Amino acid sequence: MTHVNRWMRHLSILTHLFFLMRNLLSTALVATIAIFFACTPKTGSKITAIPTHPLEPAAWDSMGKPVIGDDLDDTAPLEYTLQEPAGISLDSLPPYNSSHTFEVDLIHTKIEISFDWAKKRANGKATLTMRPWFYATDKVTLDAKNFDILSVTFDGKTEQLKYNYNKEALTIQLGKVYTRTEEFKIAITYTAKPDERDSYGGSDAITSDKGLYFINADGSDKNKPQQIWTQGETESNSFWMPTVDKPNERCTQEMYITVDDKFKTLSNGLLISSKKNSDGSRTDYWKMDKPHAPYLFMMAIGDFAIVHDKWRGIDVDYYVEPKFEPYARDIYPYTTEMLEFFSNKLNYPYPWPKFSQVVVRDYVSGAMENTTAVIFGEFMQHTKRELMDVGRINEKVVAHEMFHQWFGDLVTTESWANLTLNEGFANYSEYLWLEQKHGRDVADDHLMTEQQGYLVSASGGGHPLIHYGYNSREDMFDSHSYNKGGCILHMLRQLVGDEAFFTSLNRYLKKNEYSDVEADELRQAFEDVTGQDWKWFFNQWFFASGHPSIDISYDWDETAKKASVHIMQMQTGEGAPQIFNLPLAVDIYDNNGKAERQEIRMTKRSQSFVFDAASKPALINADAAKALLCEKVDHHTQEEWAFQFRHAPLFFDRWEALQGLQENKAELTTQVSKEALKDKSAIIRLKALGGFEPDDIRIQAEVEDMAVNDPDHQVRAMCIGTLAIVGDKKYIPIFEKGISDELPYSVVSASLEGLLKTDPAAAARVAKTLEKDESDAFTEVLSSLYADSPSLENLPFFEKKLATIDGFPSFPFLANYQKFLLGLNDDALLSQGVEQMKAIALNLNTSQWRRFATTKAIADIRNAMQANGRTEMAASFEKIITAIKENETDALLKSYYDGF
Ligand SMILES: [Zn+2]
Repeated sequence: MTHVNRWMRHLSILTHLFFLMRNLLSTALVATIAIFFACTPKTGSKITAIPTHPLEPAAWDSMGKPVIGDDLDDTAPLEYTLQEPAGISLDSLPPYNSSHTFEVDLIHTKIEISFDWAKKRANGKATLTMRPWFYATDKVTLDAKNFDILSVTFDGKTEQLKYNYNKEALTIQLGKVYTRTEEFKIAITYTAKPDERDSYGGSDAITSDKGLYFINADGSDKNKPQQIWTQGETESNSFWMPTVDKPNERCTQEMYITVDDKFKTLSNGLLISSKKNSDGSRTDYWKMDKPHAPYLFMMAIGDFAIVHDKWRGIDVDYYVEPKFEPYARDIYPYTTEMLEFFSNKLNYPYPWPKFSQVVVRDYVSGAMENTTAVIFGEFMQHTKRELMDVGRINEKVVAHEMFHQWFGDLVTTESWANLTLNEGFANYSEYLWLEQKHGRDVADDHLMTEQQGYLVSASGGGHPLIHYGYNSREDMFDSHSYNKGGCILHMLRQLVGDEAFFTSLNRYLKKNEYSDVEADELRQAFEDVTGQDWKWFFNQWFFASGHPSIDISYDWDETAKKASVHIMQMQTGEGAPQIFNLPLAVDIYDNNGKAERQEIRMTKRSQSFVFDAASKPALINADAAKALLCEKVDHHTQEEWAFQFRHAPLFFDRWEALQGLQENKAELTTQVSKEALKDKSAIIRLKALGGFEPDDIRIQAEVEDMAVNDPDHQVRAMCIGTLAIVGDKKYIPIFEKGISDELPYSVVSASLEGLLKTDPAAAARVAKTLEKDESDAFTEVLSSLYADSPSLENLPFFEKKLATIDGFPSFPFLANYQKFLLGLNDDALLSQGVEQMKAIALNLNTSQWRRFATTKAIADIRNAMQANGRTEMAASFEKIITAIKENETDALLKSYYDGF
């Protein structure tokens, strides 16, 4: 699954990130609201990033003896502090979420299903082929959540079997004892009622795991297509089919999906036939003849345009809403190229019979790797021009879900405790793809974001990466399983070398294909291939908590001609190793910029490493590979940082050098920052720009030039935005040049802001033209412009947008709308506007984004009325807010409303 919650380092692109929903919608909403209101991404001030550069294959022995150092014969075992779960007395076992214990093995699933849109129910018949797993049994227990069970028989028989059903588990008496060599087939007829959870005690807070979703079921929302789709992970497909809903189960599958003939369907495997029925409906028959886990089963039904590609003879299909058909290949960029790349890199061809991708409405996650049929949220679906501002998000998510087809679908985590065996790999595939397609700098920038995402989250507490003690399996979908898992694979790759890394992955896939895995199986694959013991690595990174926190300082002994590096491990976190076994590459630079590499291994809490050097090194780069996942304080001087920026080879080197310099506003900082404006990496150029005040005349010429000529439009938009803040009329030609249909929305928006400062009349004319654009990309800048000088002629713009605005853009838009309404100074119009917002806030069929943003706007208006002494009006708006709160069923939104 992809959760999308990548930290945005640049607020200029924040508005384009509303679609980054990493996790369930409610979580995305929390995160977005946090960003919207609090708004500064946290990065530890001393976390000068972390990692990379391929180390040579390890030359150390497996006991962790340092090759260079002052204590070569230290072979004391590493110390670990085991986590003591809070609240557990010493004579009790700690919480342990085991893998599923099998009673029977599900071999084949056949589902015949149709839908009742009005009641949001599915009518199904499941025919399940099973046999006892090992021990003989006379009963079988299936996951089947909130069904009405209509009939349970052996397949082809009419005699009803005895069963117990408690709305979650269906236990069927088989009437005799079956042994593990005896297959049997059970047919179950049922009605699935995913929207009627109260009947078994479900809470409103967990409606997002209902498995089967009807979108705009009654067709009342004219702005939204009607769709049905499923979301199985973690154990939710048992809301629409009886199954053994566990990740360590696998079976083959047939789906007979009956729908109105106007809809398209998508499911796993191949579409074998499509048959029209006498009642005007149509039955599509999908067949998946390779086994996979039940949580990877899927259906998507709706009015889709399908664009076809082929790769090595298999169908590659892109499902989009019809108006996005021209952009289907842009929405799922590089799909066939990635299939080729990953197949070759793993030396294991894509293992399934087709590859389809579909975007659905109101999706509850970012994306999901259902075998052969990936589902994505709407954040993917844009026009080609909009996608110019989206950056590489689409290709990263496509890569992530595609890599899951191997890591997750072909080999599947045995239990949710081992989730990183799915998500760590999918996460790391984003790095692999970026490195391949766009180069090391781009990939390293991505890695740095992943590292920081983990480190920020870990500052609030952590757990072992392989985590049997979780409270809820949903908690496993965090920045440990994803970010940390990916970062650890990257470290492992640096340690073993590329060839060993990918050979080991191939071995792991081949040995475990079509089966479940746990972390030890990964370790064994690496040990088989490299001939080395990797327990020390897996113990500290996979099975312990935390990460190293290191402090690095340097010395030079002129008399002895010795340079030294002192490293201290400072980590104190609960469950974290007090001493990590840390192999590091140290680059020692002479004054000419020539580096000599030394490999060291740290095995003590505090350790010094001494090197011969003819003269004082210009720089010692103690973590030269930049692969280590850690917090780091590096005591370089300003001169050493400048040297590192100019001579060290990696993106990380330049980033952390610039960071180190920017902490001091010295002349050297300005010099290096000016050089950084010409860096080959757009991210470094942006970081350099961020170190200057907008009106800093020392870089005025550079900014003017970059505003027009920088090859990266994000840099260009930032430079134009900088000139807009300065607001000098001499920049009008630059702003005018930035307003073009050919340019990304971000550049045009920044240019409009500049024009507004320097030539308001021209800006107003341009605004009227931009209003015609169908995209919401200009909504924020236009609504802000109109809210600043409220005029009745712009009311229709707000009313029109209010009808359709959704997702993250709802927030700035509604903030501007309430400001605009207040600015009109017309009580009747204000009340009318509030009534419109109230209607949206009360409509539980509309999205949480719209409900939240409208309620917040009404609350802001009430506050303004109160502040102006308009108590009667304030009281009437207060009543509306109370009514909205009472009507709201979402616990999270209710809790936010309590704060209004
Ligand atoms: Zn994933």
